[in-house]
Amino acid sequence: AAKSDPDRSYRLYDASIKDPRAERRALEGALKSAHDNREFELYYQPILDLATNRMWGCEALVRWKHPAKGMVSPLQFIPAAEESGLIGQIGDWILEDACSTAMSWDLPLKVAVNLSPVQFQRRDVFSSVKQALDKSGMPAQRLVLEITESVKLTEEATATLKRLKALGVSISLDDFGTGYASMSYLRSFPFDKIKIDQSFVRGMMDASDSRAIIKATIGLANDLKISTTAEGVETEEQLNALRLAGASQAQGYLIAKPMSREAIATFISDLRGTWQDKPSRARATG
Ligand code: C2E
Ligand code: MG
Ligand code: MG
Ligand code: MG
Repeated sequence: AAKSDPDRSYRLYDASIKDPRAERRALEGALKSAHDNREFELYYQPILDLATNRMWGCEALVRWKHPAKGMVSPLQFIPAAEESGLIGQIGDWILEDACSTAMSWDLPLKVAVNLSPVQFQRRDVFSSVKQALDKSGMPAQRLVLEITESVKLTEEATATLKRLKALGVSISLDDFGTGYASMSYLRSFPFDKIKIDQSFVRGMMDASDSRAIIKATIGLANDLKISTTAEGVETEEQLNALRLAGASQAQGYLIAKPMSREAIATFISDLRGTWQDKPSRARATG
């Protein structure tokens, strides 16, 4: 179908389009039709709770199933979706789809959803979240929203996040340590969780500075009574070191890769009891 539609084949990075603004416009047009044609899909990456060795939940990660180019990474289209404002509609869809998918799982696990700073400009985020919860029937306690320092904590944004917390939704600070003002950002809002950026985890076995930053972050989080998730865990060594350092949760390819809606449902059903019951299954999936 993709080949027979010439209109489609030029979209997303066509080298023949020399004007970068024209290229951006083409990408934005393609995103609009991708949304209309339901070409976005959420993948889910399991997160392991280190204290109990049970699955804690999943992070929802959007993909664009492009008819011609296959799976496109969010890093390649979220910026254009933000610039064009389409992230408002796409973000609403992501919230609804993540909640309804989580409601179909055999276990009442958490689902973490990433929010773009532009969603706060384009949408009444409280209403968007409330609608996703109401439509799906998912308890607010199962929803975790991930924001980064790029969300400006204006009075309005802070009030929105506080109302969401009052509903029972948790708020995570994603990519911690990569921004410019991590400490003051932490002070501006009572986050429930810090996600330690994968760049620190990647460096932790051979760079003492990364290791020191991870330890300090976990110590700080403990003092603030905030939990921590380490991202990008790829080796047993890293996992063991993170356990020792006292991280609450771990997420990464070692544990499982992001997987489709169908695959995650099977993964969760097969897992049932503790993670420990089926470590090989857990590792082999995805
Ligand atoms: P993020 O929220 O920090 O998500 C974690 C990223 O790390 C994901 O990339 C995930 O696939 C990747 N990852 C997980 N484990 C490992 C590992 O062990 N090694 C390595 N090298 N990578 C790992 P992904 O799915 O490409 O997403 C990239 C970013 O795009 C996300 O970073 C997030 O900022 C954004 N994003 C993804 N989905 C959404 C969404 O639904 N809405 C919004 N607004 N942004 C999203
Ligand atoms: Mg995230
Ligand atoms: Mg992250
Ligand atoms: Mg990131």
